[in-house]
Amino acid sequence: MCGIVTAIARRNIVPVLLEGLRKLEYRGYDSAGLAVLKDGQLQRLRAVGRVAELTAQADATGLGAEIGIAHTRWATHGVPCERNAHPHISAGLAVVHNGIIENFEALRSALQAKGYAFTSDTDTEAIAHLLHDTLKTTPDLFEAVRVTIGQLIGAYAIGVVSEAEPNRAIVARKGSPLLLGIGEDGHYAASDTAALLQVTRKV
Ligand code: GLU
Repeated sequence: MCGIVTAIARRNIVPVLLEGLRKLEYRGYDSAGLAVLKDGQLQRLRAVGRVAELTAQADATGLGAEIGIAHTRWATHGVPCERNAHPHISAGLAVVHNGIIENFEALRSALQAKGYAFTSDTDTEAIAHLLHDTLKTTPDLFEAVRVTIGQLIGAYAIGVVSEAEPNRAIVARKGSPLLLGIGEDGHYAASDTAALLQVTRKV
């Protein structure tokens, strides 16, 4: 197993993402990462090993933002390394994913034929590029995620943020756990209540 944390709030959510990942550590993982929208621009940090390493990177860069997604990975497609760690990015949008996309090879071939270049060995990167491609004809992010997941075979929980819609975070699940947390100052999602109790009891 492994985990996802998503946050959108009227405060700095980087500490919320990191504390959420710490609470999910017990599930097991080999690498961790996060992406936030800072002044409308995606910023990503990834680290092999402990969440503490990711925290050190966030501290060193003084990263702060009001919207973001975070992930602990248990590799199923591609070795544990920074290049394969989530989030995966396709030109301005970032995706975290727990689970397995069974038809990722067919999706990857079709996307490569359209000119998408893959930089990781993960099944997840196909989701990011598929969503990017879908947005060309379905510009609303929520609708585009809906269309994209309709093409996925397998189990997933995903979190998405996009520079094109800096006030939204989209989550979806099928077969993998993902809970919504409704807070006073924002909305959250995570694989487990343990990650959400820091911000809300309303899950
Ligand atoms: N299948 C994805 C990967 O290997 C996600 C693994 C996970 O659930 O963390 O990157």
